[in-house]
Amino acid sequence: MPTAERQAKIRIVLVNTAHPGNIGGAARAMKNMGLAELYLVQPREYPAPRAVWRAAGARDVLSNVKVVSSVDEAIAGCGLVVGTSARERRIPWPLIDPRECGTRIWQESESHDVALLFGREDRGLTNEELQKCHYHVHIPSNPDYSSLNLATAVQVLCYEIRMASLADAEGNLPSLQEWDQPPVAADDLEYFHEHLAQTMADLNFFDPENPKQLLTRMRRLFNRVRMDQMEVSILRGLLSSVQRMINK
Ligand code: SAH
Repeated sequence: MPTAERQAKIRIVLVNTAHPGNIGGAARAMKNMGLAELYLVQPREYPAPRAVWRAAGARDVLSNVKVVSSVDEAIAGCGLVVGTSARERRIPWPLIDPRECGTRIWQESESHDVALLFGREDRGLTNEELQKCHYHVHIPSNPDYSSLNLATAVQVLCYEIRMASLADAEGNLPSLQEWDQPPVAADDLEYFHEHLAQTMADLNFFDPENPKQLLTRMRRLFNRVRMDQMEVSILRGLLSSVQRMINK
């Protein structure tokens, strides 16, 4: 697949960005690294002149921006979702470093859409948003001052994607193993989790004290497994049978 088509499969998603200058800065960082698919989830101030100034020669990235109302909408159709985090979280999640992140995103863009999520300037991504991710990536910054400016973080991670694409062009990046089924897309995975939660509720399987913890663990389990479309439709069929039995 030509490089430009691969690049078009890589979405950079900025969630609830407060400062339009960061949106422009991210657009510029992306274009410098050969990327152009920018998604904005409920930006607080956009469109804005400050975004255009900061984008400089990357105005075309801004004019191609998709403004959407939820993270789910931004990642719909993606087979790989990676979330960025400026610090460690309460519940451990599969963690990759920026280099592995670049490699993985580039490798997977050969066969499906991928998304890289960036959080709010003041408080990053919510736990709920981070739980939609297969992997978390942390730029190993100074632990005493770990949070990078948003557009700077976009720059670092897009640079790593660029390095992976250059390694690939030189034949130095292994292709992924072939698989007979495409990976489940983020929106279908979300429907699966809703179905699973509903079935567990029907079964009274929840710990009434702490239902969230169970659902979080289920998300982590299934994100780790990287199910394909066929596996998910089998499991959904199974859940439907269970529901039919209970509701008889
Ligand atoms: N106080 C917030 C900081 C958010 S910084 C928090 O603790 O979560 C804004 C965004 O920039 C983050 O959500 C993330 O997308 C990105 N970012 C900043 N520093 C980063 C780092 N060291 N590694 C990965 N992403 C980082």
